[in-house]
Amino acid sequence: MSGTFHQASWNEPVIFEKSVEGVRSHVPPPVDPKIRDLLGSVDSLLPSEARRSAPLNLPRTPEMQIVRHFTRLSQMNYSVTLGTYPLGSCTMKYNPLVDEIVAGMPGFAWLHPGQDPRTVQGALELMWELEQWIGEITGMDEVTLQPSAGAHGEFTGVMLIREYHRQVTGEWDKRHEMIIPDAAHGTNPASATMAGYKVVVLPSNDEGLVDLDALKEAAGPATAGLMLTNPNTIGVFEKNIEEITGIVHDAGGLVYYDGANLNAIMGIVRPGDMGFDVVHVNLHKTFSTPHGGGGPGAGPVGVKRELADFLPVPRIVRRGDGSFDLDYDRPKSIGKVHGFYGNFGVLIRAYAYIYALGHEGLRRASELAVLNANYVAHHVKQIRGFSLPFSKDAPRMHECVISAKQLKEETGVTAMNVAKRLLDFGVHAPTVYFPLIVEEALMIEPTESESKEDLDRFIAALKQISEEAYTNPELVKSAPHNTAVGLLDEYKAAHPTTLTLSWRMYQQRLKKTQ
Ligand SMILES: *Cc1c(COP(=O)(O)O)cnc(C)c1O
Repeated sequence: MSGTFHQASWNEPVIFEKSVEGVRSHVPPPVDPKIRDLLGSVDSLLPSEARRSAPLNLPRTPEMQIVRHFTRLSQMNYSVTLGTYPLGSCTMKYNPLVDEIVAGMPGFAWLHPGQDPRTVQGALELMWELEQWIGEITGMDEVTLQPSAGAHGEFTGVMLIREYHRQVTGEWDKRHEMIIPDAAHGTNPASATMAGYKVVVLPSNDEGLVDLDALKEAAGPATAGLMLTNPNTIGVFEKNIEEITGIVHDAGGLVYYDGANLNAIMGIVRPGDMGFDVVHVNLHKTFSTPHGGGGPGAGPVGVKRELADFLPVPRIVRRGDGSFDLDYDRPKSIGKVHGFYGNFGVLIRAYAYIYALGHEGLRRASELAVLNANYVAHHVKQIRGFSLPFSKDAPRMHECVISAKQLKEETGVTAMNVAKRLLDFGVHAPTVYFPLIVEEALMIEPTESESKEDLDRFIAALKQISEEAYTNPELVKSAPHNTAVGLLDEYKAAHPTTLTLSWRMYQQRLKKTQ
């Protein structure tokens, strides 16, 4: 079966190496003298140190060569548009093309964020309405669209919690602890630490859920808040969620919802109703922006009413006459967390996605995501060497975490080896070694967009890999074999003395070795 997939492998130089002096990729039409004069006068407005003196060192390559170059590179890459991409926690769902088309409409794409609000009423209305919708979906009173990622949303949310303790409870200096479960995404403790908090790690109980006794012990007068995702990172719903949020509230803290796992519960339950005070959602996971490779994202943050005054400026407001405007007059605000209003193109995609699906559609998407994850969990846990740790009888939500511990003990083949071997089947690897509470973790999130046939193919691939591990472990350990790039040295690939990140670095390294 793995023989059916072979990735293209081009010995492709970087585009600068294909450059030929004197070649032009594109001959622009002559510039209207009036426009040239205008550009000239714009140029003269720039301070001299900001003006370019030397010509740009761009590659000189015919258009055809450029197109081939990038097509070849894309053939050595992998994407959701090529096959199954069960990267746990990342929600690599298929993003409908219509959302791309809408985001590219000239009326949106050619806007400038510096335009007078009176000239961008449609864009402001779109953002205002999207805020309402995200508030409705999450059960929050007000939303900001500014943060550009989940982690950025977390940081913003934690700053809002800090501001609440500064301006409302006045206990800012006493409440310096943020409670975070040991199964949390690494960004949670990172965001809390960046905002100046001491992180108190909460152990999970033997079901993989929040340990209520440990929480009662941890929560107290030093608690600023608790950061939690639900369903949690092993894909199980925290059944005691109201008790959890109650314990933190009784201790005087607030509760933050890491909404990266919202894909499991849209239109079914709302974090606001579970007792959360602040949430972020990842538009680039749940709401239809393609991601990977660090492209633009958005991590809107929603809050309950008592935190609304602290949201970043500007707030998008609707005036009495129905027009939209930007309100900077918010003296209690934490300030800005992003240039202008956030990543607008991402907001358009989310708007189009929610608009197309509606309440019923979002609910259906979540139901299918949950069904797919349970289908995979049910089949994969039966494969030799794999097991489903924690809350064995609880249904999985959007994802399942499989342990390859037994496989490793019996064959020496690790979760990492399994992940690499999956690439030979034309499947992207699941997330591995996360959450930390599961040994040899394979975190699988099929999302709602995979068909049953795709899931069966994925399950069959894991079955074959298990058989290989017991009969020919070296085959698995030396994988991948059918990809453009073989097994990487994980150390070298991530080490600053060997990692070459740019053409300039490459040239400098080349000079040194000559
Ligand atoms: C992805 C993710 C985050 C961080 O989101 P980014 O947009 O990648 O910054 C936080 N928590 C969980 C559970 C996640 O899966």
